[in-house]
Amino acid sequence: MSTTSIRLYTESPLHEAAQILLPEAQSHYLANVMRLAPGDTLRLFNAIAGEWRASVTKISRKAVALEVSAQTRAPAPEPDCWLCFALLKRQKTDLVVEKATELGASVIQPILTARTQADHVNLERLRAIATEAAEQCERLIVPEVRAPLHVEKLMANWPERRLFIADERRSAALLAPSPGPSALMIGPEGGFTDAELEGIARTPLVTRVSLGRRILRAETAAIAGLALLLAAEA
Ligand code: SAM
Repeated sequence: MSTTSIRLYTESPLHEAAQILLPEAQSHYLANVMRLAPGDTLRLFNAIAGEWRASVTKISRKAVALEVSAQTRAPAPEPDCWLCFALLKRQKTDLVVEKATELGASVIQPILTARTQADHVNLERLRAIATEAAEQCERLIVPEVRAPLHVEKLMANWPERRLFIADERRSAALLAPSPGPSALMIGPEGGFTDAELEGIARTPLVTRVSLGRRILRAETAAIAGLALLLAAEA
C-alpha cells in the first residue's frame, strides 16, 4: 500500500466515499503503466470539487475502481487569460498547448491567419495534452482548447475582454502583468499582415505590445508573453 504522487483529472463527482470506475485509458495507465495495487492512493481533481485523495479498491481487466476519501485542496479561482495563437505545425502547436497550460491560460484558441502554416488540428489530442499538463503542474482547472477559428471571425465577435496583440514590428510598450479577464494574441512565423493588424487594432480593448527587442519564434513568443502577462498570478 503506497501513497503515490499520481494526479488525475476526472469529471466524476468528488466527495467523501464516492465510488469511481475510471475510463479505459486511465485504468490502463494506473494498472499497467504505473502498476498500482489495491490500497494504493492517488489524487483526483476537477474545477468544481477541487482535489481529493482516493484509493484503489479493485483492479479488473476492464477498469480500476477507486474510493474517494479526503479533500486535499479546495476549489480555487485561476487566472482568466486566453491565449490566441496562430496555428503552427503539429509539434510546435503541441508545445504551445502544454506550456500555455503550465503557465495558467484558461482558454487556448488556435487562430487561422493569412500566413498560418497549418489549417487543422486533432482537437482530442490537444485536449489530452492540456489535461496531462494540468495534472502534472498541479492546476485544478484544465484549460478549454477550442477549435481553430479565422482571426477575422474571432475579432468580429470579440467579447468584453482586454486583448494584448504581440507586435514585433512597431514600437509598443513591453507587455506587463494585467489582472482581470485578458487575452494574448500571437502571430504566425511569417507575422500578421498589415491589414490583419489594422483590422484587429480597430477592435475596442485591443493593445499592441512588445515582447522585447528580439524577434522570437512564435512558440517562444506565446510562452514568454504568457509568463509576462500572468507573472502577478504565478
Ligand atoms: N516574420 C515576422 C517578422 O520577421 O517580422 C516575425 C514573426 S514572429 C516569428 C511570430 C509572432 O511572434 C509575431 O507575429 C508576434 O506576434 C510574436 N513576436 C515575436 N517576437 C516578438 C517581439 N519581440 N515583440 C512582440 N511580438 C513578438
